[in-house]
Amino acid sequence: MSKPRFDVITIFPDYLAPLSLSLVGKAQENELIDINVHDLRDFATGVHKSVDDTPYGGGAGMVMAPEPWASAIDSVAEKVDQPHELIILTPAGKKFDQATAYELASKEHLIFACGRYEGIDFRVTEHYRTQSTFTVREISIGDYVLNGGEVAALVILEAIIRLIPGVIGNPASLEEESHSIRNGSDQQLVEYPSYTKPQEWRGLEVPAVLLSGNHGEIARWRTQQSEIRTKKLQE
Ligand code: SAM
Repeated sequence: MSKPRFDVITIFPDYLAPLSLSLVGKAQENELIDINVHDLRDFATGVHKSVDDTPYGGGAGMVMAPEPWASAIDSVAEKVDQPHELIILTPAGKKFDQATAYELASKEHLIFACGRYEGIDFRVTEHYRTQSTFTVREISIGDYVLNGGEVAALVILEAIIRLIPGVIGNPASLEEESHSIRNGSDQQLVEYPSYTKPQEWRGLEVPAVLLSGNHGEIARWRTQQSEIRTKKLQE
């Protein structure tokens, strides 16, 4: 697989500045991934470089027009000779989860469309769904409404990029994480509680089993704690 490429299209490119920090920034420096952020206004025409207009059918707010979006998406797609995953960020989309992060981490080219205002004219989704070189996914990061898709793109990019081989120093740490751990019944669990030094802090002791050196006991205790935590979340 060649180096995965991520293109983010937004009217606020500065919102994506954190991508140069921490592990994602290092992954770019180490040329494990390629991230490009594009200003949608560069693809707008007219004196005012407008990217939105009033909604057909009436109602509050403005809708992002299809033309600048298609120009931007076509322009980034032209640069990559691979199938494209077009991710349209919307609170009306399918909820993002760890399984989707793993699936997207195996793709070569992801394009993130960050909406603003009342969102993007739906014909953009419809049009690219008919294009054989595109897979279109409408994705939400949760049941709440943000002002724009930029924060959602950051969340999804971080979740995906940390799964790409070489990005995290010790790949074993990915196996023991929330939403990846499974018990004997193949139930997906969240992670067990973690502790470090000091052994006693503000009157609270580290559970004795973790100091026992008995790896079997420790593994059993951790699975049990993961099951208790997971069950509590379902209450
Ligand atoms: N009118 C839209 C609705 O009710 O579904 C909400 C538009 S929201 C104010 C503007 C943009 O923020 C959306 O187009 C989308 O790109 C982004 N956005 C808001 N909430 C989101 C979420 N939960 N997940 C992903 N993107 C979101």
